[in-house]
Amino acid sequence: MSVEAEGGCICGAIRYAVKSKPTWIINCGCNFCQRATGGHYLVESMFPRKDLEILSGTPRSHTRISEGSGKAIHLHFCDTCGTKLFTGFERYGDICGVMAGTFDDPNWFPRTPETTFYFFLGEMPDGMVIPAGFNVYFGHSLKPDGSNNTPQRFDAPVVVTPELRQAALEFAVANGEA
Ligand SMILES: [Zn+2]
Ligand SMILES: [Zn+2]
Repeated sequence: MSVEAEGGCICGAIRYAVKSKPTWIINCGCNFCQRATGGHYLVESMFPRKDLEILSGTPRSHTRISEGSGKAIHLHFCDTCGTKLFTGFERYGDICGVMAGTFDDPNWFPRTPETTFYFFLGEMPDGMVIPAGFNVYFGHSLKPDGSNNTPQRFDAPVVVTPELRQAALEFAVANGEA
């Protein structure tokens, strides 16, 4: 399989390549991802783990137990410059999530509503903007038993407010999620 794209950390010690296009892109606004990125949300591009190859350097990893699933999440980062590069999951061992902002060309793959989802509206910070037409989940897209939660779609861009989070909670309760 040929290399589709390369990326790396800020200092250049760690370089990687991916050998397929991302299967999904998850824009996750959960508290974990806010803290991990220092921003409103993490843009995580998902790949089969076998399609991610480390070209140089050795990432360190930090393991957290997810509050939602109770399973381990592994954050892989450069211990020289602190850049987070990808995640791995106890729950989904054969996939990984590459931090989309670490690709050399952040625009090498499309981010359309067919492949791009917003997770954890219930935790997104005030002022974050969600574009129209994307599936937006109150929490994760999957319940702990693996079945699907019900997403919302907005007809126009929306700004996250306490009222929007409250409405999302009510939507989730009505749909058996929360
Ligand atoms: Zn680095
Ligand atoms: Zn998250």
